[in-house]
Amino acid sequence: MNIQDKIVVILGAGESGVGAAILAKVKGAAVFVSDFGAIKPSFVEELNAHQIEWEQGTHTMDRVLAATIIVKSPGIPEKAPVMKAVREKGIKVVSEIEFAGYFTTAKKVCITGSNGKTTTTMLTHHMLTKAGLNVGLAGNVGYSFAKQVALENKDIYVLELSSFQLDDMEDFRADIAVLTNITPDHLDRYEYNMQLYVNSKFRILNNQTTADYFIYNADDPIIQAELEKRSIAAQCVPFSLTKTFETGAYTANKQLIINFNNQFTMSIHELALKGKHNAQNSLASGLVGRILDIRKEVVRESLADFVNVEHRLEFVAKVCGIEFINDSKATNVNSTWFALESMEQPTVWIVGGVDKGNDYTELLDLVKEKVKAIICLGKDNQKIIDTFSDAVETIVEAGSAMEAVAYGYRLAKKDETVLLSPACASFDLFENYEDRGDQFKQAVRSL
Ligand code: ADP
Repeated sequence: MNIQDKIVVILGAGESGVGAAILAKVKGAAVFVSDFGAIKPSFVEELNAHQIEWEQGTHTMDRVLAATIIVKSPGIPEKAPVMKAVREKGIKVVSEIEFAGYFTTAKKVCITGSNGKTTTTMLTHHMLTKAGLNVGLAGNVGYSFAKQVALENKDIYVLELSSFQLDDMEDFRADIAVLTNITPDHLDRYEYNMQLYVNSKFRILNNQTTADYFIYNADDPIIQAELEKRSIAAQCVPFSLTKTFETGAYTANKQLIINFNNQFTMSIHELALKGKHNAQNSLASGLVGRILDIRKEVVRESLADFVNVEHRLEFVAKVCGIEFINDSKATNVNSTWFALESMEQPTVWIVGGVDKGNDYTELLDLVKEKVKAIICLGKDNQKIIDTFSDAVETIVEAGSAMEAVAYGYRLAKKDETVLLSPACASFDLFENYEDRGDQFKQAVRSL
C-alpha cells in the first residue's frame, strides 16, 4: 500500500498505536496520534523521537476526520463519539495488525483460540528462534507488530491474535493459522451469542489459499462442528490427544507423534510443559515447526527445554512438602478445568474473583476427585459456595492473597498441592491477573 503523503490518524497511543504511528511515518505518511486519555511518558518520548504529532486528553475532530485511513486501538469501543463520527464520514478504519500486514511480505504464523494462545505462541517463537530463523514475536503478547515491520524487517512473525483483533481484520492472511480450542469466553462482547464468537475465531482463515495451512484441535467439538459447515481453502492439519492421523499430530502410548514431512516422535515425559492442555499446545507448536521444515532435533529440544511464561501453572515453591502453583492466568472455567485435571496430589484450590457468567458445575467431577478444600478469593463467593458445598468438606473465604496463602498452608499437608487457579477475572481485589499472581507468589515466599 502506498501511503506517501496520505494522512494516517492513529486513535489510541498504546503499544500498538505507537507502533502503527512509527510505521506510517517510516512509510512517508503525514501522521497524527490522538488519545482521549493520558499517553504514557515512554510512548510520548517515542513519538517525539520519530517527530510524530500527537495530542492527549481530547480528540480534535477536524484533524481526526481529515484522515485517509485510521488505525484504531482495540480498546476504543464503536459507541465512542469519535468512532460514530468516523463511521458517519465513511473513513477506512483498520487495526494495527491489519495495517502492518500491508507493509510486509514476511511469513505469518497466527495463533488464536480461547485458551493456550500465549503459551503456544511463546513456545513456537522459542522453536523458530532456536532454528536460527529471523523471527519476530507480536500481537496480543505485548510487542507491536507494526513497529517491528517498520524498524526490524523480520523474515517470519509469530502472532498471538485475540478474537477482538481478528474482528478488525479484512485483507490480512496467515500463512499458518493455529486454532487451539473454542470455549465460551468474552461472550459479553458478542451479544451472548456463541456463534458470533465462533465466527470471530474462524476469521483467522480469511484470505488463506491452498498454499497455506490450518492447524486445529480435532478434540474440540465446537471446532469440529464448525468445520462440517465450512469449506476450508487451506491445507488442514489436525492435532488430537485421542485420534490418530496420517497427516497431523497426536499422542499415543505416551508418545507425541507428528506425521508431517516424515514422522517425528518424542516421549511425552520429555516435554517441558506438563498436563493435557499443554500436550495440545506442544502438538500445535510441533506441527508449525515441521510444516516450516525445522529439523527434528530442534523441534525436540525446543519442546523439551521451553520455560513457560509466568502465571500459567507456574511452580512457585515447596514449603514443608506442600507444593504451591500459580495459575492466576486461568480466568475462565475451561482453563481451570485443565489445571485441576493436571493435579497429581490432593489439592487445596484457591478460586474466585469476577466471573463472566461461569458455569462451575462443569468442574464438579474433577473437584470431587482432586480437591480437598476450597479457598474463595473474591468479593462475592456465593455461587462457588453453592456449587461446591456438597462436594468438598472445607470451604473458606479469604480477602487477600496473603490470607488465601495462609489458609492454604494450614489446610494442606505434606505431599499436597495448593493451586491458585481462579476461573475468574481479578478486578475485584487486584489490578489484573499479573498482580494477583505476583501477590500470591510473594505471600508463598514469605511463609
Ligand atoms: P491465552 O493466551 O489464550 O489466555 P495462556 O497460554 O495464557 O492462554 O493460558 C491461559 C490459561 O489457560 C492458563 O491457566 C493455562 O494453564 C491454561 N491453558 C493453557 N493452554 C491451554 C489449552 N490448550 N487448553 C486449555 N487451557 C489452557
